Formats: sequence, C-alpha cells, structure tokens
Amino acid sequence: MKCNGCAAVMPFMEDTPQGFGCVFCEGKQFPDAVDILTEPSLGFVNETRLGQITMADEINTSIESTTPTLFEAGTGVGKSFAYLLPAILSGKRTVVSTAKITLQQQLVDKDLPRIQTYLEQIGHPRATFSFAPAYGKNKYACYAECERIKAGEKDWAKYLRFFKDSEYGLWEDADKLHLRLDNNLNANDCIGPDCRHYKTCGYIKSRKTMLAADIVVTNNWLLGFHYKLRRTMPHFHLLGEFAHVIVDEAHKVEDGIRTAFTNETSLNALDKIQYRFDRLLDVADEQFELPELATLDPLWKAGFAALNRLNQAKSNIIDTNTAAVIQDLIKGLDDITNRLLDKTTLDTMFEQMSTFTHTELIRRWITKTPSPAPIANSPLTAPIVSAPVGMPPRQGFPTISDDQCVFVSLEKILELVDDSRETFSNILKAQPNRTWMIEQRLFNGKTNLVLKDMPVNIGGYMPDKSVTYVSATLALDDNFDVFADRVGLRGKNYKSDIFPSPFNIRKQAYLYIPPIKDVPEPQTMGPNVTAYREAIASQIYELLLACEGDTFVLFTSNAEQDYVKNYLISRGYPHPIIDKATYPTDALARYRATPKATLLGSKSFWEGVDVAGNKLFMVIITKLPFPQQSDPIIKARHAIFKGDNAWPFIDLPEMLFDLRQGAGRLIRTQKDRGMLVVLDTRLRTKYYRARAIKALGLTPVDNLAMVCKGLRDRNG
Ligand code: SF4
Repeated sequence: MKCNGCAAVMPFMEDTPQGFGCVFCEGKQFPDAVDILTEPSLGFVNETRLGQITMADEINTSIESTTPTLFEAGTGVGKSFAYLLPAILSGKRTVVSTAKITLQQQLVDKDLPRIQTYLEQIGHPRATFSFAPAYGKNKYACYAECERIKAGEKDWAKYLRFFKDSEYGLWEDADKLHLRLDNNLNANDCIGPDCRHYKTCGYIKSRKTMLAADIVVTNNWLLGFHYKLRRTMPHFHLLGEFAHVIVDEAHKVEDGIRTAFTNETSLNALDKIQYRFDRLLDVADEQFELPELATLDPLWKAGFAALNRLNQAKSNIIDTNTAAVIQDLIKGLDDITNRLLDKTTLDTMFEQMSTFTHTELIRRWITKTPSPAPIANSPLTAPIVSAPVGMPPRQGFPTISDDQCVFVSLEKILELVDDSRETFSNILKAQPNRTWMIEQRLFNGKTNLVLKDMPVNIGGYMPDKSVTYVSATLALDDNFDVFADRVGLRGKNYKSDIFPSPFNIRKQAYLYIPPIKDVPEPQTMGPNVTAYREAIASQIYELLLACEGDTFVLFTSNAEQDYVKNYLISRGYPHPIIDKATYPTDALARYRATPKATLLGSKSFWEGVDVAGNKLFMVIITKLPFPQQSDPIIKARHAIFKGDNAWPFIDLPEMLFDLRQGAGRLIRTQKDRGMLVVLDTRLRTKYYRARAIKALGLTPVDNLAMVCKGLRDRNG
C-alpha cells in the first residue's frame, strides 16, 4: 500500500484525519521535489527556475519508470538539487557519481546536508535519509600497514594521533590536522575480516556506513569498478545494491568507466612479480625458486619491443610474428600460474614457511574470489580447496601482519600474472569495441612501457536502465546522438532534454576571434611555427594589458604555453602570471588570491574550475581542442566508423564538446560579465565556424581595438 502523504510503500496504513497514511507521516501531505523547487515560500529556493523544476520532474519519472535519461543542464540551472531531491524523496537507494572530487565533496559537505536540514525543518518523514561518500581504498590509511612499518619509529606518535582524530582514517584528514604522513600505507591491500584491527578500522567503518546509506556519492572509476566486479561476481555489490544511478559531469563518464574496464600489464610487470615473490620468501626458512620467471624474461622484452614498434608505426594490427611471441608469453604466464597453484609446490612453500594459516587463506582466496576465473576453475585448485586446514601457529610470528604479507604477496603475484594474461589474450582477440596502446611512463628514472587493452565506447559496460546522465555539455546541435552512442543508448528507449542556462549569456559575454591577417591558422611544425606562436603571444600580451589580468589563458600544448609565458616575461608584462610549473599544487588558489593575476593552464583548467565574478573577466582559448590523432580511442573510432570521412563525426564533435567546456569557465553567475577570445582563426575560415559559434552561444565582435577599449573600460 502506498501512503497518501509521503508515498512510502508499507504493509499497513492508517485512516487518519489527514487521509490514508503510514505510521510516520499519518497521511499528512508533504511537498514533493517539484513543489520544493517551485515555491520560494516553502523556504528552500529563493527563486523559481523553470529548468530546475522540469529536470526534477523528469528525474522523478525516470526513477519510477527506470527509463534512462540524458540531460544537458546549463550553468545556473541548479542541477544538483534537481536530481538530489527526487532521489531522496523517492526513498530508493541511489548512487550519484561524479568525475571530480570537488563536486563529490560539494554534494557530501554542502548540498546533501542542506537538503537534510530543510527536510527536518518542515518535519518531512524522509528527513531521516542517510548519505555517505564512497572513495577508493587508496584514500584511507591502513592501521595494520602503518603499524607494521612505523611502530617504534620516531613519527609513530603522529600516526597514532591521526588514527585517534580521524573517524574514517581518510588521508585528507591528515592534511586538515597538518600531519605529514606516508599515504602509501593505504588500504589497497586490505585483507578484511582476517585483520585483527578489522573491528576498529576506519576504512571498514566507512565502508559499512556507505553500504547502509540511502544516497551514495562516488566517482566514475569506482562506479565502473562496481560494474566490473558484478560481471565476475554477480552477487557482490561494491557500492551495495541500488535502484538508480545519476552520473553528473557525464561528459567525463567515459574516462572513469574506461579506466575501470582497462586491463594492463607492463615491461616492469615481471620485476614486480619477482619483487612480490622475494617478499613472499622473506618469511621462508629456505629459498624457493620460480625458474619460469627467468625463462619468460627475454620473451617478455621481445614482446614489448614488437608491440612498441607497432604502436609507434600507428598500427593496432598484430602481425603473425608478434602474435607468435604473445602466444609464447601467454604460455609462460600459464606455467607460472600452474606452478604457483600446484599442490606440491604450495605444500613445500608453506612447509618451509611453517606458518599457520596460509593454506586456509589460499583456500579462502580461491573459493571466494572468482577472479582470476581460469585459476578459480583450474583442476589444480581442487587439492588446495580440499587440503586440511593449516598447521598450528609458529612461535616467533605473533602478529597477523606477517601472515597478511604472505597472503597478499601470493594473491598479488597471481593477480599480476592474470592481469598480464588477460591483457595479452584480449589484444590477440582484436575485439570490435576494444583497442590497445603502449604508454610510456617514467619509473625510477627509467622508461616503463605499459600495455593497455581498453574499451572504445562504454556502451555495454554501463546499464541501459535506471540511469541518468547530467552535464552542461552533452548535446550538439540540440541532439544527443553522439553521447547516446558512446554510452550504448543509441537506438534504445531513452529520454533526453536540454535545460538552458537561466543567465542571459549573450548579453553577459562576447566572443572575439582575430582576423587571419593578425593570427595565421595554427602551425605545429615547419618553418612557420615560430611566426604563429609569436602572433598568438602578441595578441595575448595586448589583451592582458588591456584587461589587467583576471584572465585564464587555456592551451592545448605545453610547448605553446611555455612560449607564451616566456614571451610575456621578455616583454616585461607587469601583472602576475601563474601556472602549474611555478605552483604545482595550488595554482588555482594562488590565482584566486592574487589581484590582476593571469592563469596559464592546459587540460586540467578547461573544465570543472569555477571562478565567479570579476576575478575571471576574460578567457582566452589559444587553439581549438581537436583530439590528438595519436589518441588510441580516436584511432579506434575512426577504424570502427563505416564511411569515408569520419572526421566530422568523430573529431569535430569531440572538439565542440571540449570547446564548450573551456568557454564555460567564463560565466558562472547571473552577474558575471566577460570576454571569450578564441585565437584559432580556423573559426573564421572553416565550414564549421557557424556550428561552433552556435555551440558557444555568444555574440561575436570583430574589432580588437574595440575589445581592448571594452576591457579597459571595465577597469575604469
Ligand atoms: S581492516 Fe584492512 S584497512 Fe583496516 S587495518 Fe586491517 S588490513 Fe588495514
């Protein structure tokens, strides 16, 4: 039966003076999300925003009907309340996922408490709703690991103070307490109930709170990992079971979900396996050899060299010779797995170690962990599963930490082997929606080659029901096809809507694109590069002088950013210049705190950065942010595209989405005024000019002198 008042579904209802209702609200009518957002007299909003109300109403319907929804909500719509209120009042457990931790924290620290306080004030029965963040394990300190490494050291007292003052052992609390601690000692290798600190552990407490919460606020990577684990363990719910998921900052959802579903191995992986194996042997009385590692080593190097050559030649097609090497690598990895899971080997190893619970731990790992599936299904595991429970405790191993070390080491070795095996197998299979790449990473001063096998689109990895995607940039030309395609909803039944910004953007900001005589089209190589860079640097210098700072200059290339910075310095630009090279951790905070500052920034400043008011009066975009042709996802999309010219359907939409994000930094409130400058003169000459200007939604002005006068006028 459904309550007339709060809409809760309960087995018993009462006939009350207010109507037919449940024991909590007695049938009293309470405002729903739309009422709360429509009526300022109800005390939650100061003004009525049509977009916010409509969005809340449509999310309500979506939660009830499970129909997936895609919403573009412009700046100022108030999207977080438009989705949080219906989710809370629905009484259904909901996960909200974001791309950036700043939004995650805003929802948990500000928006959700504000709703809760309001619902308490009006006596709403849903005021008792609970909420919690879900972070990755690396955000938490592991007491057992800290104790193992730090107990007895001179800074151990600092760790004890941290664990006393931090409820959940979150490393960010150490910053708040001004304690410098080693945040590598995190909960990544948590062994769960086997740990003797399990009952008091902050990380475990945080997980329990999250699993009991009605609203969980997480990030896209963890959400992706939740879905990934569900594939191999259908009954395991990393984030608990939930009825609906709302993905905010949805234009970034692909990155997080793709990362969760990416398999990787590296040139260093064999060293890591060796390291883990050596660690395993630290507690053994005698040496135990794993000769398969040495046999695999030259093959491994040859395989990575071949794959790297292919990658550098911009090819993803595995030739016959490389395929043969990879097959040998897979066989070598199978040999290691078989040896590590061989009963005689394990018995010898554990006998040498003479500790008490290893056989049991291994048995538990094999029986409880479906991944890696080939190992779990291997007939080799049977003897271990049926082996008698381990031997009595050995004197001299009083703490469980040593056991943890052994167990985790063996588990990690098998995980590393299995990850590598899966990565190599997948790239051999050449699956239609997956691609691979080699990434070069610096490790201990040496270049490590990392092989990644990853999904192209995330459709098939995300649900196609009970999901809402929200972002300020999700549609192009009022159409959601591109995004729907990427999340696997194209051609399926979904609902979409656009809620434009309530601001009068056309009157609040103008767009200036210099004429081609002043700035040539972008050059990245050849004899004209310097002339091109000088032209954009000179324009930036003029504009900054006129505006006297309060500007973001957004680049697509570090080399151009460095050039412009040096140019401004060499010409004696008089106001402060801030960038990540000078302020690696707090460039944005410095910018906010410094009068007349200019921030020079690349990728990380194009989105998710919010500077309201006169402090950000001008945004200069130096070059249209077309995707790199070397990007494996772009290459794979081109390969998948059926047709001659994929560029207008792949690269152009990608650029328009990113351009809108960059431009979106400018106007954050109704009172903001400003100037967007795009120094890329392809916006004057190319056929997509009109489309880009429409996407930006600003009025173009054509005269630099006029622009500079306008900028000077604002300074009085
Ligand atoms: S329960 Fe896990 S995270 Fe907590 S102290 Fe033990 S091993 Fe570390």
